[in-house]
Amino acid sequence: MKTEQVDVLVIGAGPAGTVAASIIHQAGYKVKIVEKQKFPRFVIGESLLPRSMEALDEAGFIPAIKQKGFQEKSGAKFVKGNAVCDFTFKEQYTSGWNWTWQVTRADFDKTLADTCESMGIPIAYETTVTAIRFNGQDSVTTVEDAQGNSSEIQARFIVDGSGYGRVIPRLFNLEKHSMMQPRRALFAHTNDVRRSMADEPNRITAVVHQKGVWIWIIPFATGITSLGFVGNPEFFDQYPGTPEQQYRALLEAEPYTRERFRDVELVFEPRVLQSWSATTDKFYGDGFVLTGNVTEFLDPIFSSGVTLACVSSQTAAKLVIRKLKGEAVDWEAGYMAPTLQGVNTFRSYVMAWYEGTLDTIFFKENPDPKVKQQICSVLAGYVWDMSNPFVKEHDTALKRLARTIELRTKIDKLNSELEQQ
Ligand code: FAD
Repeated sequence: MKTEQVDVLVIGAGPAGTVAASIIHQAGYKVKIVEKQKFPRFVIGESLLPRSMEALDEAGFIPAIKQKGFQEKSGAKFVKGNAVCDFTFKEQYTSGWNWTWQVTRADFDKTLADTCESMGIPIAYETTVTAIRFNGQDSVTTVEDAQGNSSEIQARFIVDGSGYGRVIPRLFNLEKHSMMQPRRALFAHTNDVRRSMADEPNRITAVVHQKGVWIWIIPFATGITSLGFVGNPEFFDQYPGTPEQQYRALLEAEPYTRERFRDVELVFEPRVLQSWSATTDKFYGDGFVLTGNVTEFLDPIFSSGVTLACVSSQTAAKLVIRKLKGEAVDWEAGYMAPTLQGVNTFRSYVMAWYEGTLDTIFFKENPDPKVKQQICSVLAGYVWDMSNPFVKEHDTALKRLARTIELRTKIDKLNSELEQQ
């Protein structure tokens, strides 16, 4: 069997894989990426966060992405009935990037992968990892190409960025159920000819349809808009018919989308994804590190997936380089802790969204500008800034704030009733 040798084998050519590959390659190591599919390939996850730009920049990808003319994104808007809460990344607490992009992932991921190849990183497409043998830090990975030919890759280290493929957790029984409730998404790309009726193109809009059910609206530069519904599987089961019939019935049921998307042309038949959350106990081991979705993906609200993929790979790549240099690496403090810090901060926000705590905060009239800036930084992906109380105390700060708002509202109501007497 053919055998090749590399310093680092990267599994998956999504954002996690390509960011790690580029940073390690730039440090002078021999890197190879194996990717199961042929690019361009469809994947969902189209709204980025400003914090991802730091990782994309360090990976050397920004000039190539800019050339593609993707839709620039400068904020996020939340809508519930007539109430609107608009976050602009320029008005955030943490200093850093204040814009990013909304991208069709097929084009975006191909741009990152092509940039890796132009740097000299080989990518074996339509090549699937089927087995891995670890011998201490070193490993031998068996891969199979589209013709069914097997070959082996010897590596000093493996970065597993295989996303929903979850290669190492599956091969080594490291999978663990996520504590997130199972949810379903039904989505399509639409030819959004009536776009000017509602949204500015430079932000994602999240519309609360009913408790626990929301809609993403992500305009692209091409005039196409991605629109998806997310909720409990039981919610969707109330709507009979094909995915397209369900999708059109839901567009009609929501006042915000009804007129704009009535009879809209769909670029593809609506797709369904369900129960995407999964995790593992440890994000590293002897001779490997897991990055991106393989570590944990929570939920599409707040668009955290690609950012966590890029940042976890940026962090991991630097530790892999140190490991290859023969330095001691504390993976627990240097990788596991910061990765969990990011995931857990977003987890608190995702839970607060579905519990309704964020409704109370987002849709309050005249919000405190400083609090809004601090929450805006979280929504921009700056979830490692411990000077931000909405990061540092992510698990309690939102509940406390919502309770204060509710109490104040009650007191104001009582006072106005007393005044009228
Ligand atoms: P991926 O992008 O999935 O890349 C992994 C690659 O590994 C794939 O190309 C795959 O083919 C390859 N692979 C898999 N198995 C193997 C194997 N055995 N051998 C070789 N290669 C393999 N995120 C956002 O940031 N913004 C959003 O708006 C957003 N919306 C979402 C909506 C929904 C409904 C869902 C479910 C997710 C959403 N996400 C969003 C999350 C986003 O999809 C992921 O977080 C992101 O794609 C993770 O990137 P990655 O590089 O880790 O994995």
